[in-house]
Amino acid sequence: MELNQLTAHELLDKLARKEVALEALYGALYGRIQKTESKVRAYVRSEAARKTVSSSPGPLNGLPVTIKDNICTEGLETECCSKILKGFRPPYDATVIAKLKKSGAGIFPLKANMDEFAFGSSTENSFFGPTANPWDLGAVPGGSSGGSAAAVASDEAIWALGSDTGGSIRQPASFCGVVGLKPTYGRVSRFGLIAFASSLDQIGPITKDVEDAAILTKVISGYDPNDSTSVNLDVPDYTQSLVNDVKGLKIGLPKEYLVEGMDPEVKSIIEEAVNKLKSLGAVSKPVSLPHTEYAVPVYYIVATAEASSNLARFDGVQYGYRAKSDNLIEMYKKTRAEGFGEEAKRRILLGTFALSHGYYDAYYLRALKVRTLIKQDFDRVFNDFDCIVAPVSPTAAFKIGERSDDPLKMYLSDIYTISVNLAGIPAISVPCGFTKKGLPVGLQIMAKAFNEEMLFRVAHTFEQNTQWHKLKPKL
Ligand code: GLN
Repeated sequence: MELNQLTAHELLDKLARKEVALEALYGALYGRIQKTESKVRAYVRSEAARKTVSSSPGPLNGLPVTIKDNICTEGLETECCSKILKGFRPPYDATVIAKLKKSGAGIFPLKANMDEFAFGSSTENSFFGPTANPWDLGAVPGGSSGGSAAAVASDEAIWALGSDTGGSIRQPASFCGVVGLKPTYGRVSRFGLIAFASSLDQIGPITKDVEDAAILTKVISGYDPNDSTSVNLDVPDYTQSLVNDVKGLKIGLPKEYLVEGMDPEVKSIIEEAVNKLKSLGAVSKPVSLPHTEYAVPVYYIVATAEASSNLARFDGVQYGYRAKSDNLIEMYKKTRAEGFGEEAKRRILLGTFALSHGYYDAYYLRALKVRTLIKQDFDRVFNDFDCIVAPVSPTAAFKIGERSDDPLKMYLSDIYTISVNLAGIPAISVPCGFTKKGLPVGLQIMAKAFNEEMLFRVAHTFEQNTQWHKLKPKL
């Protein structure tokens, strides 16, 4: 095996024992990128290919982390894959980046592709063009953290950070056959994450296995006075949860999820995975999340409302792109017309409408009320169950271009991931099988708020008793 194919924990062992030099690891990564990046296109602005080795002292021994383009990295372009942020070099690090550096991680100098401002489920909405799925170059890698997931799956990265507002870590992880975790809302600081929907956004890891996810989650978690929604709770050592044991755990299977409309192949892969957990001693029972049918409309009101407000600051004055005009108002208008892509404009319009006088009560306020009902569905189930197991997406990766002209179809495919963000709970996607065409499928595990330990325990046990995470795409 080449160095870039190893997991982070394998490399951490080797680095600590001085069996591997950091320069050799970077060399392997850049070599891989040279070979496969023209097919995968996981990174942006790669023509700049600054072949630097970055490191700082600490337990992570310089191991580089790939960062999604919406997380601020001091001095390194952060453009959310949007024209409107062209050339933006943040003067500061996001808290997660500062924490990584403090732990001795390197920040990989190339940033990962994404849907513009994290709006999407396919990475096709990037200003830089789409990323390809390493398992099928004609298919999408999922989104919006498609670049991070494709980089990890193709061994162009060791591990990565993504962000998840409605599934953007879990769904690309599922589509690319890697592990992705959305932490509890408030577990990880959002300071320096360029906001999409502030009440839903969380940063989380995309990795080759569950152990790496546990290590990375520990590093980035914790209270931050710069984020008023971060929670002041101790961060457990998640590697302690990596036990190979699910005996007696009670697993809920939401009956609203495994329904018609789901790809039958994906459905049977999920059922097999549940059987695997049962054979390992877990007990499963059907449960009901009765407000599931409202999750998509509620999410697309709340998320677009918050997005329209968060994007108001991009007017050509302080950040990035500025259109030429002698007139201030004209400059604002032209900058926004030229700087935002189609999906960003669609969301600004939807969100502004939902917040406007006369519609606020009918749409936004009502959506917030139903959001509470969705959260209560989960609270009720977690009174009696340790976790919930579900699909990540109704299908495996779809073809590039297949859904890009039909936003509604694209939105509906988020059905299994967005309730988790609305409820603020944590969830993980772990590889659980392949379709006949050779596309990966992920199993989603959800737990109570701040019980990431349960996710690591169940996902790790599943992984230790299956081989899916060991398979690599042929590139
Ligand atoms: N696909 C969802 C959307 O388009 C979720 C995106 C995300 O989690 N950033 O909004």
